[in-house]
Amino acid sequence: MSYQHKDVQGQVIHLPAGKVLCIGQNYQDHIAEMNSKTAPEALFFIKPSTAVVDINQPFLIPEQLGAVHNETELAVLIKAPLTKVIPQQVLDAVWGYGLALDLTLRDQQKKLKELGRPWEIAKGFDGACPVSGFIAADELGDEQQLQFSLTVNGEQRQHGDTRMMIRSVTQIISEMSQFFTLLPGDLVLTGTPAGVGPLYSGDQLELALANKLHIKTSVR
Ligand code: ZN
Repeated sequence: MSYQHKDVQGQVIHLPAGKVLCIGQNYQDHIAEMNSKTAPEALFFIKPSTAVVDINQPFLIPEQLGAVHNETELAVLIKAPLTKVIPQQVLDAVWGYGLALDLTLRDQQKKLKELGRPWEIAKGFDGACPVSGFIAADELGDEQQLQFSLTVNGEQRQHGDTRMMIRSVTQIISEMSQFFTLLPGDLVLTGTPAGVGPLYSGDQLELALANKLHIKTSVR
């Protein structure tokens, strides 16, 4: 079943399924839990459109490739092209916001990092980006004042607050657009707060965004 962007009511949004542009290391508490080396330059990476699946359906995770970690992130749906824009030009091109899991093959990523290789396999595999329905931007309010969370089997594992982002949504997208043109239907993932950890088949997940989006799903 091919993926299609939808709103929170399940209505089709008439934008194509595009690539997913991601930022790493955008919350200090996650940098701390990973003991990550940081740099002034932003850490960007891309998942292909084939990574995107509907989070409302129970989703598959790879088997026998080591730990698959949850990273719960505010996702931005783009509705107009953006090339080399300044932050003030970004919000006019945003359709709305949802939640995504930046699923990560953590053991594979560690091995690839140690070899000095790119980490596409760890982050870009089929199904590596379950995404929710989207809330229209004007219905959500200030994108830098949003709370979101992930609960796994009844225990809260991640709590995010977009006020804690190192780079704001408009800064991230402006910087991305210096390298990569964003097209209608593309998604931007804005980084994970702390609380990444392994997911297993049968896990029951609940995700929430700003009292506007509540999702119950599971790992198949
Ligand atoms: Zn991430």
